[in-house]
Amino acid sequence: MIRPTRRTATDADFARRRLAQLAVLGLTAGTTPAALPGSASAAVPSSVKAPSASRAHYDRARRLAADDPVLRALVTALTPGSGLPPLPAPEPVKLFDNLVLLSAGWVSAMAVLTDDGIVLIDALTSPADAEGVIIPGLRAVGADPAAIRHVVVTHGHADHFGGAQTFADRYGARVHMSPADWDLLDRTRPADAPVRDLDIADGAQLTLGGTTIELHHTPGHTPGTVSPVIPLRAGRRHHSAMLWGGLNPPSTVAELRTFLASVHSFRAVMRRANVEVELSNHPNDHGLERAEQLRHQPPGAANPFLLGGPRTQRYMAVMDAMLRGRIADAEEAAGAEEVAGAAGTGAGARGAHTAAASHACC
Ligand SMILES: [Zn+2]
Ligand SMILES: [Zn+2]
Repeated sequence: MIRPTRRTATDADFARRRLAQLAVLGLTAGTTPAALPGSASAAVPSSVKAPSASRAHYDRARRLAADDPVLRALVTALTPGSGLPPLPAPEPVKLFDNLVLLSAGWVSAMAVLTDDGIVLIDALTSPADAEGVIIPGLRAVGADPAAIRHVVVTHGHADHFGGAQTFADRYGARVHMSPADWDLLDRTRPADAPVRDLDIADGAQLTLGGTTIELHHTPGHTPGTVSPVIPLRAGRRHHSAMLWGGLNPPSTVAELRTFLASVHSFRAVMRRANVEVELSNHPNDHGLERAEQLRHQPPGAANPFLLGGPRTQRYMAVMDAMLRGRIADAEEAAGAEEVAGAAGTGAGARGAHTAAASHACC
């Protein structure tokens, strides 16, 4: 399991794996592909010598993002080898009348306020975060943490479920997770894992106090990642928000394709729900900067989280393009490992081991 203090090491591990994969190709990130020297080059298929197939996808994502800071942040977050920025924890802030951002900086939770209590989306990393960030954060915005009725855990990584059991024990909150990620926790048995409680079915509706949150399965980051669609209020206006449940791409081609399929299915959900607001549980969307902008802007100014429908869809289009790039990279790496394995270098076996190692964050 991953703690905040271990995050840097994990990201570094990811970057090292990435460099190792590229080294098999004779490449390093950002350099022009070069033929391998000596007899090895004769064994490399011509497709490997060509410019990386991923580049066109990454370039398209950058064109889509243009100078939009929200979309550019997403490009950065999905660029191979990137890590989460070490941002300080912000003060809690109401992003909308019924939505509170409760953040530890590098990972965030959201509280949906209803007439009959609170639905917490994610629970940060630990009981200490529950006690030190979420509970005082809710009090700071005038909400009662004892009103937490439900904790929706987007996926089975410790930075999202770590504080959940605290709310179950103290306030009787029910903890929701997809069956696949409950199973993930059963297999990995991490510390601070909540006691298995309620399953989230794909497309489930969680209603509290007249507020209905949709919960959609978007596997990829983990086998059972869930992405909510949340109804929001801003004065008399109503808006629909999405929160992509887990962004850091997996390593294998099959897992990446699953992730891309989830992007497609969720975009259809977003269109149907007329989603105009983008939210994230990690600062991969310029979210903390937008929160500070919101905190300091005059009343009546445009909410920086209200992107509108087309821009919210473009956010997903950027994710789509970056994922296609990651798939092309993974396919190249897998092809090179096959070649290396056939050449008897042993790199193929090592590569297979690397591909099988699942990430645990973020
Ligand atoms: Zn995370
Ligand atoms: Zn995660």
